[in-house]
Amino acid sequence: MEATLMYGAHDVRVETVPDATLVDPTDAVVRVTRACICGSDLWPYNSMPPSEIGNRMGHEFIGIVDAIGTDVRTVKKGDLVVAPFAWSDGTCEFCLQGLQTSCLHGGWWGGVTLDGGQGEAVRVPLADGTLVKLPVGPDHVLMPSLLTLTDVMGTGHHAARAARVQPGKIVAVVGDGAVGLCGVIAARRLGAERIIMLGRHADRIALARAFGATDIVSERGDAAIERVRELTSGLGAHSVLECVGHGEAMRTAVSIARPGGAVGRVGVPQETTIPNAQQTFYANITIAGGPAPVRAYIEELLPDILDGRIEPGRVFDRVTNIGGVPDGYRAMNEREAIKVMIEF
Ligand SMILES: [Zn+2]
Repeated sequence: MEATLMYGAHDVRVETVPDATLVDPTDAVVRVTRACICGSDLWPYNSMPPSEIGNRMGHEFIGIVDAIGTDVRTVKKGDLVVAPFAWSDGTCEFCLQGLQTSCLHGGWWGGVTLDGGQGEAVRVPLADGTLVKLPVGPDHVLMPSLLTLTDVMGTGHHAARAARVQPGKIVAVVGDGAVGLCGVIAARRLGAERIIMLGRHADRIALARAFGATDIVSERGDAAIERVRELTSGLGAHSVLECVGHGEAMRTAVSIARPGGAVGRVGVPQETTIPNAQQTFYANITIAGGPAPVRAYIEELLPDILDGRIEPGRVFDRVTNIGGVPDGYRAMNEREAIKVMIEF
């Protein structure tokens, strides 16, 4: 089968790899119908040291169950399923709390030992805990939005939850990538009265407004902080969604949260410290968040997508096939595309 491997920075290749097969009785093999490239894939795309063997890529996919192990109960051959970006047993202490990204027996797609989502098929460990059956066919018109349940919509929702978004309150979103845009959807869905999007790209701003952003701040750095303060009577936002991960974004996020407010961070931190420790201490600002347990949110968000109340699939502005994946990475890295969907 064909799959995507990364051999180093700016070195993404599509190659023939061994077919995905059942290994454990709790496995399923899923033939991928839709997948995508993630903003988080761009971190290794820009920094991975050269590798002889390459890393299998992709953690966002929907597909059809092709085979199940003898212990699998919740899905069967022929089911269309969505997979969250981490696999999990669904039964341990942390899964039962709805924190499947800390599953005691779970893990992450791809790397050197597991299949990734950016390939024709995936061996899914712990299929009962991991996969969720979709009540539609594989070419349903809502497929782009359903695909966001694998990561970006659940991650935007997690940022909003971690930032304690409440009805009637002011929310700011740092980061105008697919996660930030989904964060706008989530904030609106949770009843925020004002949603301030920090972003500069015209296409992303237009989408943010369509998703419910009420104010756009296009300044950078201190000017952006100043502008958010002006928009909030000098007080700052109740909730800030940090959807980037680098130090400057986090510094902005903690600087625009009001005293007693919260920052929900879902961008993978690229630095080892949280900036402005004294400022956040004296203002009693909560900093929360981490890898979103998107598995926990699939059932909550799915009805809103099926009913058309939210349309996170609009973040996809380019579609390609498996052969076009390397150029998809390039396009996202050069901000030519917000998010690239792969059709199989
Ligand atoms: Zn677990």
